[in-house]
Amino acid sequence: MRFPSFSNFVRTLYTFGNATARLQSLSRGNSSIAPVHRAIILKSMPSIPFLGSLFGTSTSASQKMSFPESKSDDEWRTVLNKEQFRILREKGTEAPFTGKYDKHYPSEGVYTCAGCNAPLYKANHKFKSGCGWPAYFDSLPGAVTRHTDRTFGMERTEIVCSNCGGHLGHVFKGEGYPTPTDERHCVNSISLKFHDKEDAAAGNGEAK
Ligand SMILES: [Zn+2]
Repeated sequence: MRFPSFSNFVRTLYTFGNATARLQSLSRGNSSIAPVHRAIILKSMPSIPFLGSLFGTSTSASQKMSFPESKSDDEWRTVLNKEQFRILREKGTEAPFTGKYDKHYPSEGVYTCAGCNAPLYKANHKFKSGCGWPAYFDSLPGAVTRHTDRTFGMERTEIVCSNCGGHLGHVFKGEGYPTPTDERHCVNSISLKFHDKEDAAAGNGEAK
């Protein structure tokens, strides 16, 4: 009985990158977990393997879709390191404020998918959100595919690479950031690679 709400709680807290969402999740029916337990759960989170596997088994539309570049899990393991596999293929989340590109603000260049190298975001899509993960207000046209993720009783918008289906993160809307779209693509650094020259990003060849 307790297990679903426990995993839901941990997943909510750990996956969401904004304080508002955290507050909402805390006030939404998780009152059975005492504050002291919350602290323990959060602290030990990244190293609890069974929780990690729970995340990986969330049923998401993106897992049922096919993408231009498709590989088996075994094939992906040969090209991705352990952490890249956990995040890109098992929809994991890196710890906030630790990612390579969290505080990375180049004046030009392109961020590509760490799995297949397809260009995803330009340097000038990136903005300072303070959320602890790289934030972009828009992507290159068609580069990112959105899915409504209703697992665990929440409604979120997951974003994946349109070329390989690799998990990038989530999109949040209407938070009031002074950007052209008022959207925040909250992306794991581990899902990305940066190229300071746009032509250096191989991918589909064209980074426009
Ligand atoms: Zn990709």
